[in-house]
Amino acid sequence: MPTDNEFTRILDWPGYRVYRQEIDEQSKTLKLWVRRKRGNRKLECSGCGRKFAEACDVSERAVRDLPWSAFRTTVFIEVCRVKCPDCGVRVEKVPLLPGKAPFSKRFEDAVGQACESASARQVARRFGVPASTVRAIDLRYLERWSEARRQPALRQMGVDEIHLGKTEKFLTVVSNLESREPLWFGRERKKETLDQFFEKELSARQRRGIAAACVDMWAPFRLSIQQWAPNCLIVYDKFHIMQHANSAVDEVRRAEFFRKGMRMRGLVKGKRWLLLTRWINLSNAKRQELSALFALNRKLFKAYLLKESLDRLWNYRYEGAMIRYLRNWIDQLRWQRLRPFQKLAQMLLDHLDGILNYCHVKPPLGVVEAINGNIKSLLRRGRGYKNLRYLLLKAQRMAATRTEILILEKAA
Ligand SMILES: [Zn+2]
Repeated sequence: MPTDNEFTRILDWPGYRVYRQEIDEQSKTLKLWVRRKRGNRKLECSGCGRKFAEACDVSERAVRDLPWSAFRTTVFIEVCRVKCPDCGVRVEKVPLLPGKAPFSKRFEDAVGQACESASARQVARRFGVPASTVRAIDLRYLERWSEARRQPALRQMGVDEIHLGKTEKFLTVVSNLESREPLWFGRERKKETLDQFFEKELSARQRRGIAAACVDMWAPFRLSIQQWAPNCLIVYDKFHIMQHANSAVDEVRRAEFFRKGMRMRGLVKGKRWLLLTRWINLSNAKRQELSALFALNRKLFKAYLLKESLDRLWNYRYEGAMIRYLRNWIDQLRWQRLRPFQKLAQMLLDHLDGILNYCHVKPPLGVVEAINGNIKSLLRRGRGYKNLRYLLLKAQRMAATRTEILILEKAA
């Protein structure tokens, strides 16, 4: 049987020693009782951080710690209370215990890390705690991570909306395009929604510091930005405009689907994804499928080409070149009788300034899209994201860990 001293060394809780243990081989449980080492006598008020030499009372708390081999481990720890002149009678601060929940900090860290690559249900099975507890631990883990890190300045922001479904409808997502992470979520997509972000999350100085915003051509967002961020250039970015181009292709597809007879319906059916995918991203087999469809339906072909060529608008870096390209693009619409594209062209002309602002700002492309995709994949995978704070932290952590990987790759 190992001695208390050896248990102390294996447990490795800084400042604490094991003075009693109990091993149950039947139930595979290990219980350890710990108290402060002789040299560790300074008590700290958990309210204000003031130091004390004396405790006013001592009690025992049981917390789950990391397992020892197959043994589930519970540590019983002596926790003191101090009489603080500012806070009253308060429990001491114990760095090993992050909160009131019955888990040690490193147990919570292990659960939080596991949640980065597995669902709450899988993690729950692995650690032997309910899934709801796993989610609560994960949330605390993320909150601690968020508190400890420096928030990068917001100079280029992205504003996007995510469609949640029939009842909740929309989520407005504000992101920092430079740090490539979401910053804030708001329900719905009204001007008031975005107003809240500017009003509650930023100081006047921070609002003045925003140089550019990538947004959809959605008037409420524009109005809010103009009101709150006086130095901000509005950019209607490629991602959002191409979303509109994709919807236009889809509208043409649906119209053709209904207009033509059964034969055409059979052909167009199930081709939605193909039509929304860029040609360079399609395999040879898929290209042939599309070509066969285009041979039969010229309208659909034209719509697809228009979408593909609009994409090249952002190859131009000078206003004059961009305008020329856009005018030529719009000229191609004549005699085509493609209503959805005529509507899109009008929309682009109405928002021309914001489209051309791309030449002055050059925000990083694909960031809004990537953040949007991460959030959607989180929503698809997990339950428990009714809590928007949890969803936000999770998406931020996702963005941050990806960045870390990128930095490592660059360094290698
Ligand atoms: Zn205090």
